[in-house]
Amino acid sequence: MHRRITGKLVIATHNPGKLAEMRELLAPYGIEAISAGELGLAEPDETGDSFQANARIKAEAAAKAAQLPAFADDSGLAVDALGGAPGIYSARWAGETKDFGAAMAQIERLLQERGGTAAERRTAHFVSALCIAWPDGHVEEVEARADGTLVWPPRGTAGFGYDPVFLPDGHSRTFGEMTSVEKHGLPPLGLGLSHRAKAFVKLAEICLAG
Ligand code: IMP
Repeated sequence: MHRRITGKLVIATHNPGKLAEMRELLAPYGIEAISAGELGLAEPDETGDSFQANARIKAEAAAKAAQLPAFADDSGLAVDALGGAPGIYSARWAGETKDFGAAMAQIERLLQERGGTAAERRTAHFVSALCIAWPDGHVEEVEARADGTLVWPPRGTAGFGYDPVFLPDGHSRTFGEMTSVEKHGLPPLGLGLSHRAKAFVKLAEICLAG
């Protein structure tokens, strides 16, 4: 049986960008969202070997510490020709200084080494895993992906991370060239294109009152 969320929810992130995005997504459902950062909760180590495992580690740690239902996500970019790399290490590839220009250049170098010149050898997808954990151990989990092709050089200054090299299937602008409403916004305002938007729609269907 799926469980619905009512009342307060802890958002298990210390990342202000993700927090703002999650609050926006939850606001229409009347959910009061408090962040793990605001509650002073410690950040657990992301020791899982999948997006879903890492989302669950973060949600369960926050639910236990706050004794409230907690919502966490884990996400990243998987490049097919690189065997799914950088995958769960997407943030780490940018290093301590969060240099995504360097991380995108490294992906491009590796793609070129593998003969990734034609579009069909440059396919990639973003993944978003979402987890809501309750203090009694119940969890709800969903995962979604956004498929596309990697372009070079990077295009656009909107968004974050690997957005400027990711051209979503069926579109002529990269995520870096789209507004956040286009990329993450849910229809009717946005296109619901991103992995996070798609995962959120799945979660809303099972856990949020319509
Ligand atoms: P985490 O989910 O905080 O562990 O990190 C995910 C990493 O994947 C981010 O730091 C970004 O580099 C990358 N990533 C995830 N979602 C997106 C996106 O929508 N656009 C661009 N990069 C993303």
